Amino acid sequence: MSLRVGVIGTGMIGQDHIRRLTKVLSGVTVTGVTDIDPERAASAAPEGCQVFETPQALITSETVDAVVICSWGPAHEEQLLACIHAGKPVFCEKPLVTSSESALRVMDAEVAFGRRLVQVGFMRRFDADYRRLKAVIDGGTLGLPLMYKSVHRNASVPVGLYTSDMPLNDTLVHDADISRWLLSDEIAGVEVRLPRRSRQGGDLRDPHIVLLHMAGGAIVDVEISVNVSYGYDIRGEASCEKGIAALPNRPATVISDAHGIRQAIPEDWRERFIEAYDQEFREWIVAAGQGTATGPSTWDGYAATLVADAALRAVDSGNRETITMRDKPALYAQPVSQAA
Ligand code: NAP
Repeated sequence: MSLRVGVIGTGMIGQDHIRRLTKVLSGVTVTGVTDIDPERAASAAPEGCQVFETPQALITSETVDAVVICSWGPAHEEQLLACIHAGKPVFCEKPLVTSSESALRVMDAEVAFGRRLVQVGFMRRFDADYRRLKAVIDGGTLGLPLMYKSVHRNASVPVGLYTSDMPLNDTLVHDADISRWLLSDEIAGVEVRLPRRSRQGGDLRDPHIVLLHMAGGAIVDVEISVNVSYGYDIRGEASCEKGIAALPNRPATVISDAHGIRQAIPEDWRERFIEAYDQEFREWIVAAGQGTATGPSTWDGYAATLVADAALRAVDSGNRETITMRDKPALYAQPVSQAA
C-alpha cells in the first residue's frame, strides 16, 4: 500500500520534495499540503491532493499517514509535537528546531511516546560519496582520524532574508552533523574565527572559520562562505594517522578548449545533492511505512542545535565554548556512526 504523505510548507524545498515524492519515488502518494500562503499551497498541490487550512488539520487527517515538514525553523517545534502527539512518522527539514530547549521538548515528547518517529533532513548522510568516505574511515586501514576539513560554500544567499547569524545557526548544522557522523563522535567545544569580511555579501558577517573540538580529541575545521559567486562547493578531507581520505568533487564532463581544462560546478544544493535527497526519502518511506523513523534522529538534531548555539556564543566571546549534552535516552542508543 502507498504511504500517504502530507507536506507542510510549500516553498523552495517543499516544492522540490513534492516533485520527488510524486515523480521520482514509488510507494508514496502526497495526499495533503498546507502553507501559510494558501495560494502557494494550492499551486504546489499535485492532482487529487487536498489543501489543508492549517498544519494541525493536515497532521490529524485520516488521509495522512506520515508528515514532511518544510516550513521555516521557528515553526518546526509546534508541528513536530503535533505529529508525535498524533503518533505519525515525520520527516523534518533541518534545523530540527532553533534552540536547544526546544529540541529537548521534542525529545521528551518522542521518548514519552516510546518509539522513534522523527527523521531530520541531514541529507549528506545519504550521499554516495560521503558514505564511501565514512566506509574508508570506519574501515580503519588509515588509522584514527585526527583532523577533518569541511568546506561549505554557497554562490550567494538571498539579500535581506539572510542575517549574519544564519551561517552559524542554519548552515553550520550540516557540517556539524556530518562531522559527528564521519568521526563517530560528539562535539565538545566550538571556536569561531572571523576572517576579513567578503564585500560580496554587503553587511553580512561572512566568511567564518569554525573549529569543532570532538570529544575524542580530533579537530574539525569548517569554512563557511555563503557568497563565493562561482557556485556551490562542498568538500571534505579526513587526515588520519596513516593517510588522507578526501571527498571528491562531483564527477562532471571535462571541457578542454582555448580557455583551458575545466569542469562545471553545481549551482546549488538541489543539483549537488539530488541523489542524496532521493535516497534519504527512499529510506524514510520504508521506515515511515512501518510506523517509525531511522536515519538522523531528534538526538542528532539536538546535537546540531547545541553546536549552533555554542558557535553564536563563541562569536561574542572569542573563546572556545563548551558543549554539555544531556544523557542520551535509550531510544537513541544506536551509535552516531550507525544512524543512516
Ligand atoms: P521557503 O522557500 O521560505 O519555504 C518555507 C515555506 O513554509 C514558505 O512557503 C513559508 O511561508 C511556509 N511556512 C512558514 N511557516 C509556516 C507555518 N507555520 N505553517 C505552514 N507553512 C509555513 O524556505 P525553504 O528554503 O524551502 O526552507 C524550508 C526549510 O527547509 C528550512 O527549515 C530550511 O532550513 C530547510 N532547507 C534544508 C535544505 C537542506 O539542504 N536539507 C535546503 C534548503 C532548505 P512564508 O514564505 O509566507 O513564510
